[in-house]
Amino acid sequence: MPQDTDRNPAEPGLFALAAAASLSSSQHSTAPVFDCQSCGACCSYSAEWPRFSTEEDAQLDRIPEKYVAANLSGMRCEGVRCSALSGEIGKSTACGIYEVRPDVCRACMPGDDDCLMARRAHGLPTS
Ligand code: SF4
Ligand code: SF4
Repeated sequence: MPQDTDRNPAEPGLFALAAAASLSSSQHSTAPVFDCQSCGACCSYSAEWPRFSTEEDAQLDRIPEKYVAANLSGMRCEGVRCSALSGEIGKSTACGIYEVRPDVCRACMPGDDDCLMARRAHGLPTS
């Protein structure tokens, strides 16, 4: 999956910020909190998901070419799985370009609708 020097040490997926999840929890939200590092479902849900949108060119230039789709529209996927994702869905995963992942990846949060849809598709708990 990843570019060794950029391997995400602590967080994963189309991912989510654990900090946001913690904040949500501390605010007594009823939203479920999941461990993205033990998931990765949203990074292996649809080849249409990890697309480029509002990124600056400089940010996109930092994504290794091997992970970029041939038409430059987003991340290269193998089936529905982002090529930058490593590990086993539902067990242990990581993003190989975490620091420069696309904006849509930053937007997906544990427990939100997209997260739950992806987790459901992989047979992972949603509550
Ligand atoms: S770049 Fe790929 S592996 Fe990384 S967060 Fe986005 S979809 Fe997941
Ligand atoms: S599906 Fe949800 S819990 Fe799983 S990696 Fe994505 S945001 Fe995190």
